[in-house]
Amino acid sequence: MQVYVEKQKCTGCSHCHDVCPVAVFEMKDRNGTDVNTDVAPQEAQWKGVTEQTIKDKWSGKDDGHNHFANTNDGKSGGISVAVNGASCIFCQACLVQCEGECIVINDEAGSVYHSVYE
Ligand code: SF4
Ligand code: SF4
Repeated sequence: MQVYVEKQKCTGCSHCHDVCPVAVFEMKDRNGTDVNTDVAPQEAQWKGVTEQTIKDKWSGKDDGHNHFANTNDGKSGGISVAVNGASCIFCQACLVQCEGECIVINDEAGSVYHSVYE
C-alpha cells in the first residue's frame, strides 16, 4: 500500500492523523524540511502555496480547526505527511474525513483511491 497527501490542498485539519488506526500520518510544520517525506509525486509535494479553491472553501470556516496554520498545536495546524503508508490496512476512515480531499492511496493491484469529504 502506498499513501500520500497532495499537500497543496491540505488544510491541516488533522482528521487523518486522528482517525488512522495504524499511525500512517504525522502533522509537520509547513516550513519544515521533512514536509515532503512521503511518496508524493513531484506535483503533489509542498511548495509553499495552498490551492486557492481550498483556501476559499476552508479559511473562513469556524469549525474548531486552525486551518493553514504553520504548526500543529496538538489539535490542528501544520500539514499532513503519510510517513507510514506501508502500514495502511485500508480501513478507509481517512478517505471520508479529509477536508482537502487530498489523500491518495494506491494498492498492490494498481487501484487508486482519493479521499472525498463527507
Ligand atoms: S485507509 Fe489506511 S491511511 Fe487511511 S485511516 Fe485507514 S489505515 Fe490509515
Ligand atoms: S485530513 Fe486531509 S486536509 Fe486534513 S490534515 Fe489530513 S490530509 Fe490534510
